[in-house]
Amino acid sequence: MALIVPDGSELSATHFDERDTLRTSRGEFHIPRTPDGTQEVVYLCGNSLGLMPRATREAVVQELDDWARLGVEGHFHAKHPWLPAHEFCRDTAARLVGARPHEVVLMNSLTVNLHLMMATFYRPTAERFKIVIEDAAFPSDSYAVQSQASWHGRDPGEAVVRLKPRAGEQTLRTDDVVHELNRHGQSVALVMLSGVNYLTGQVFDFATITEAGHRIGARVGWDLAHAAGNVPLALHDWNADFACWCSYKYLNSGAGAVAGCFVHERHGRNTSLNGATGGLPRFAGWWGNDPTTRFKMGPNFVPVPTADSWSLSNPPVLALSPVRVSLEIFDKVGVVALREKSVRLTGYLRGLIDELKSPMIEITTPRDEASCGCQLSIAVKDRPRDLYDALTADHVMCDFREPNVVRVAPVPLYNTFHDCWRFVDILRKHLSKQGPADGS
Ligand SMILES: *Cc1c(COP(=O)(O)O)cnc(C)c1O
Repeated sequence: MALIVPDGSELSATHFDERDTLRTSRGEFHIPRTPDGTQEVVYLCGNSLGLMPRATREAVVQELDDWARLGVEGHFHAKHPWLPAHEFCRDTAARLVGARPHEVVLMNSLTVNLHLMMATFYRPTAERFKIVIEDAAFPSDSYAVQSQASWHGRDPGEAVVRLKPRAGEQTLRTDDVVHELNRHGQSVALVMLSGVNYLTGQVFDFATITEAGHRIGARVGWDLAHAAGNVPLALHDWNADFACWCSYKYLNSGAGAVAGCFVHERHGRNTSLNGATGGLPRFAGWWGNDPTTRFKMGPNFVPVPTADSWSLSNPPVLALSPVRVSLEIFDKVGVVALREKSVRLTGYLRGLIDELKSPMIEITTPRDEASCGCQLSIAVKDRPRDLYDALTADHVMCDFREPNVVRVAPVPLYNTFHDCWRFVDILRKHLSKQGPADGS
């Protein structure tokens, strides 16, 4: 057989797809089509809202049918009994984030969980009160940490430390992060970075930063909104104190889906609620109570010695079933195979964009493999919004983030090499129309 070289042709994209061992997983998803229905769009927005698995509808309808048929008995006799509904997501979620099953709980939504985690892991004192985040943190994370500082009576301007890249650089260097942590030293109560930055796509060095945070005596939590389902994670081994993620981006569980939360087992086992004696105060609800005594309906909270003890309410089963379906898909494919394809797919896309040699655009996502997931962030020099609108009109679904970033994320579960090729073909057309000569 002839050797296929990645020559940027449509034919070679097709050949890559034919050889892709994950190519059948695309068939498990609904791919949006153009308004006239003639073709599939180029969907590069899985970092913002993942596509719907075909199996999701039936799973949700099953819950509705069970409710109609069984009423309250659904708690025990639904196909997936509601009482332990979150249990059905536990093992798959744990494998996805590199945790032990009792370190993971599916509950609430992301920002809510960040607050619940900070209620326990941000307990400022006169000396130790700062929270370290990225300067380019997702707004909700900024608001969350600022409001936590205020809620504890601190001035957010003083308490929140924002890590900025060096002048002229787009992303943070690990050495600089560590240096800043050391510089703030024992004034730092909490380090809470995103695992993958939403704007630049930069993947942080989890192990090094977690260790550096612990060395100065701080707690370290990760917001994995753009990391879960995107890059391999090892939360237990990294020794993170906590982590939170949403399930509607790479995890394909539907807008506002039930989110995930990790609490390291060394904290999960700590069932003392007395902060003065080394316990972990937390906000409590009946679903965090030990299930063996929960229905004794006693007045005093008995935390189950796992991450579950941070959960408050009985799980929303209609919202949770899409998460179960989606996590099963990830589990079937496996994070190793996904990452392998992701590296090739995103590398291929980057190569095609580089080949355009356009002075109008620059990829700001780090180039080295360990610092990059699915997403490429493209900074557009001139009239970025016009370029984004033109791509959209040509049926590319990507997104635009102020002031000038077009984000594209080929996700390995359902995107193809041909999607990448189509995107760059359309991009080339608009760049040559829009800006100075690009050499093509
Ligand atoms: C998407 C995202 C959020 C969104 O928060 P919700 O509570 O799910 O609305 C928060 N933080 C980060 C880093 C995100 O990427």
